[in-house]
Amino acid sequence: HAKQAGKHRFVFFSERMNHQVRERLLLKNNLRQGLSRDEFLLHYQPKFDSRSGRFTGLEALARWQHPGRGLVWPSHFIPLAEETGLIVPLGESVLEIACAQNRAWQARGFPPFRVAVNLSAQQFRDRDLVATVRGVLQRTGLASNWLELEITETVIMQDTERAVAILEQLRAMGIRITLDDFGTGYSSLSYLKRLPVDCLKIDYTFIKGIFSDPQDAAIVRAIIAMAHSLRLKVVAEGVETEAQRVFLREQGCDEVQGYLAAMPLPVQEVEQYLA
Ligand code: C2E
Ligand code: MG
Ligand code: MG
Ligand code: MG
Repeated sequence: HAKQAGKHRFVFFSERMNHQVRERLLLKNNLRQGLSRDEFLLHYQPKFDSRSGRFTGLEALARWQHPGRGLVWPSHFIPLAEETGLIVPLGESVLEIACAQNRAWQARGFPPFRVAVNLSAQQFRDRDLVATVRGVLQRTGLASNWLELEITETVIMQDTERAVAILEQLRAMGIRITLDDFGTGYSSLSYLKRLPVDCLKIDYTFIKGIFSDPQDAAIVRAIIAMAHSLRLKVVAEGVETEAQRVFLREQGCDEVQGYLAAMPLPVQEVEQYLA
């Protein structure tokens, strides 16, 4: 009996697997076409000063307006773009859209703010990253101090020496660097000290546990204290409740980002918000 149930389960499982594999393959094959047809767009999520509540800038988050599937979220296509190498041209396109958009907002008279763009490890391994970023800034006319780049710990762990050299060049241009999803990787404190970054963004998994898991609260406190003693700014991502915001403010976290204050918004809604 057990054997039979197991067998059925296996059949069901393998059919589902097949379906998922096919879906992935379909999306993967659509990526290149999507890129050439400009189907990728950005939503923007505001960040705020945790003390004053003042708006401090936006993070650009990629979305895929797929002709047959509607709006596809990054967890469904960023890994595929990484597997196929298309993350490099996609990343450049995202960077260009974000910089052009920010320049356009400035030209229309909105008070200037930074826009943050996520970079994947593969873009970071690309020899031309610094030249690509410089080229995008030149083409769009955005001053480099209005651009922020978010990278994860994995980017740095793969080749620390190279990463440090590239980050130094980007920072010398005036770009702000943030270490995203902080706490989920294996950063050692000794290299954090040497890393040319401006800001740590505490991963949302720790924020989620602030009131349910005393260890998460302890980790959040420790990250804030460590960041400040290294003279880095700290941002919390995934802030969903007022209680979390109050806790973070009391612990001295500099900025907050999350559904509590604002979702990632399409351009039109960002503009309503900014106005
Ligand atoms: P991330 O950079 O850590 O971005 C934060 C993610 O948390 C976003 O998911 C955002 O929509 C979501 N989020 C914001 N506030 C809250 C909240 O209060 N609660 C919860 N539960 N989630 C919140 P999204 O847009 O699905 O992006 C997921 C990840 O995909 C990003 O994580 C980033 O690693 C990657 N990604 C997005 N756009 C790009 C891109 O243009 N290039 C690259 N390389 N990666 C990107
Ligand atoms: Mg990010
Ligand atoms: Mg993050
Ligand atoms: Mg994250």
